[in-house]
Amino acid sequence: MGSEDRQLHIFFLPFMAHGHMIPTMDMANLFVSRGIKATIVTTPLNVPFVAKSIQKTESLGLKIDIKVINFPAVEVGLPEGYETADAMTSSKAQGMDMAVLLKKFFTATALLQGPVEKLMQEGRPDCLIADMFFPWATDSATKFGIPRLVFHGTGFFALCTAECIRLYEPQKTASSDSESFVVPNLPGDITFTRKQMLGHQNGDDDDDIVKLINTVKESELTSYGVIVNSVYELEQTYADHYRKVLGRRAWPIGPLSLCNRDMEDKVQRGKEVAISEHECMKWLDSKKPNSVIYLCFGSIANFKASQLKELALGLEASGQSFIWVVRKDQSINQKEEEDWLPEGFENRMEGKGLIIRGWAPQVLILDHYAIGGFVTHCGWNSTLEGITAAKPMVTWPLSADQFYNEKLVTEVLKIGVPVGVKQWVRLYGDFIEREAIEKSVTRVMLGSEAEAMRSRVKEYGEMVRKAVEEGGSSDSNLKALIQELKDRRAV
Ligand code: UDP
Repeated sequence: MGSEDRQLHIFFLPFMAHGHMIPTMDMANLFVSRGIKATIVTTPLNVPFVAKSIQKTESLGLKIDIKVINFPAVEVGLPEGYETADAMTSSKAQGMDMAVLLKKFFTATALLQGPVEKLMQEGRPDCLIADMFFPWATDSATKFGIPRLVFHGTGFFALCTAECIRLYEPQKTASSDSESFVVPNLPGDITFTRKQMLGHQNGDDDDDIVKLINTVKESELTSYGVIVNSVYELEQTYADHYRKVLGRRAWPIGPLSLCNRDMEDKVQRGKEVAISEHECMKWLDSKKPNSVIYLCFGSIANFKASQLKELALGLEASGQSFIWVVRKDQSINQKEEEDWLPEGFENRMEGKGLIIRGWAPQVLILDHYAIGGFVTHCGWNSTLEGITAAKPMVTWPLSADQFYNEKLVTEVLKIGVPVGVKQWVRLYGDFIEREAIEKSVTRVMLGSEAEAMRSRVKEYGEMVRKAVEEGGSSDSNLKALIQELKDRRAV
């Protein structure tokens, strides 16, 4: 069999956090549906998630291998079982220093290099697609003479902004933490403040993360290229900037969430859902189009009781129907429900509001016609899922790339309004008052401004859906990438 005929074999190395694992598994399923052989390398406690994510593909007779490596939690001084980023931010970790936990988590992650290389020795893949948080993966791939592709899990706008800030350090020119500075060499006169950046909150404690991010950037520069969960047309200016000005090779192949076509796929994404999809759909079916606001803050954010209560009051004041997802850890953190829900709230909201305590079938909910807006923490997956479902957004960033994504939504695409977060506060978020919540929810749900945003995001939604169809830009990019990897192997 010629090497052109042999099935191309890709190793996928997802980072152990839901915001990274979910799109990586979508991506692996997508590659396999195009005839690629895929092996997922993960750690024991993440196997159930990975196994569940590939069920559908396997039921179609396509096979994805899972290879398991030990996660050295105890070896680096982490409690047993701290194998996902969620564990670090859950109630279990209460009272422990998050910065210390994270540092150990990344130390353990670095120790995975040896075991991964051993598997590469045995499995001889043709390509390694590894998350950004495995910067050593570029060296590993080089050892085996194969390309390493980086998956950041964010979009072009955030990639460009982060890189321009890294290169030009404009924050150093601001006279105070709250003075705005413009990001140089980035199209669009985009401004931030130091308060919205990593390092503001924890000072020296963040130094290790800053160092890690720099290593990530270096490994990106020496890698074969970058796979981006985005759509060329959606972020054209920034996709061009990333490629032509910042000089990266990049393949936008998203939205990856669109590989989940039917109801079951959309529900089977991520963790076990805390509400039956039928109950959820029945509730939504009883509502008018665009009449419900959906609120969810991803898999890591963990608001304090005072913020949850304020949010409830703001929502009530807005008069809008809602589905509000509250991380289960938040409710069990708080001894009494009353600690985080205003007195009598659920009784008053009966029929008008639905609180999901735990994991929600987000993509399914967003796709429903009754959802008229999305209050989001601006994780990239959620942001792109909101665009794909054509929902205008209220942006409520906490940390990471979320402040960048907020700017894309509110200032570049103009499909959302900010709730008014002033500063980066990892995990708990900046405190937002009820009036700001009421006002921003009303702005995305009612009136001519909401209509204008809705019609814009509808166009973007159609645009990104077309991209994954036969001949669309993401489809073509994926085909081109696969062909390039095959051709490369043949020489
Ligand atoms: N998600 C979900 N149900 C939930 C919370 C999150 O399905 O209750 C999914 C969401 O659809 C998205 C991912 O989890 O795909 C969260 O990723 P994102 O980048 O938005 O945020 P992160 O969790 O990384 O902060």
